[in-house]
Amino acid sequence: MTAKKNGTLQRSSSGIGAQSGLELLDSQDPVVFAEEVAQAAVRMLDARPAPAGEMTVVIINGWGGVLFHEACGHALEADFVAKGTSIYSGLVGEKVASPIITAIDDGTIPKRRGSLRFDDEGTPSSRTVLIENGVLKDYIWDLKESRRAGRESTGNGRRETFRHMPMPRMTKPYIDVGTHDPEEIIRSVKRGFYAKQIGGGQADFARGDFVFSVTEGYLIEDGRITAPVRGATLMGNGPQVLKQIDMIGTDFALDLGRGRCGKGQWARVSVGQPTVRVPRLMVGGTDREISGQIGV
Ligand SMILES: [Zn+2]
Repeated sequence: MTAKKNGTLQRSSSGIGAQSGLELLDSQDPVVFAEEVAQAAVRMLDARPAPAGEMTVVIINGWGGVLFHEACGHALEADFVAKGTSIYSGLVGEKVASPIITAIDDGTIPKRRGSLRFDDEGTPSSRTVLIENGVLKDYIWDLKESRRAGRESTGNGRRETFRHMPMPRMTKPYIDVGTHDPEEIIRSVKRGFYAKQIGGGQADFARGDFVFSVTEGYLIEDGRITAPVRGATLMGNGPQVLKQIDMIGTDFALDLGRGRCGKGQWARVSVGQPTVRVPRLMVGGTDREISGQIGV
């Protein structure tokens, strides 16, 4: 959707997907869905330029999990780990995140985008606990890397087509449900930033440094979501952010099912998380557009 006012253009988009037939369309009223997307573009017409600097950032549930996928999930894929380029190499059993964080890759949730009965190497898909209460538990494995390590594959050997080599790939990586009421999380912020819709971005898969554009963002003032802001970017390091997250909501959700992950070849994925609070994250305030590899 595109909205226009006094020469200013604002765009918003959304979509749904699943491993199902057209009954998927019964799960959403198309008119209501389209109106919500259009209203987001209209709201952004009156947005002020984003503030810049370090501040408390609250990231929405569902699609907000794209940050975890890009800036942490890839570093948990066993090929990066085996090369030693991953920041998580050799850290199984170590504390790598805030103790309130449990992160999982689950390929078994029925009908969801990214779900598999078997991966592309014939291994049954599985639910893999990657981080449990802040402690690194496991990586994401295909056959090649798991044989080299003398263990079982987690059923994450995926490839785009028969022309591609299988490699360790996420299916549905997510941060698990927390204990905070999402409204309480917003109320806890005196002055901060609410990232409601995240657009394109770039992340260094092995180290986790990221830059993401926020296509729909708001100021949080005295515990309330207030003015829409545009042109914001979020910058940071995924593993560092995981150590800092201090509130996690009860509102766990997967995204609506339109993600695809690029790692030299495409794979369908979902992402997910509850609302999360990052006490300090760099918000870039320029109006520049970010383009390039979106990953999901
Ligand atoms: Zn990706």
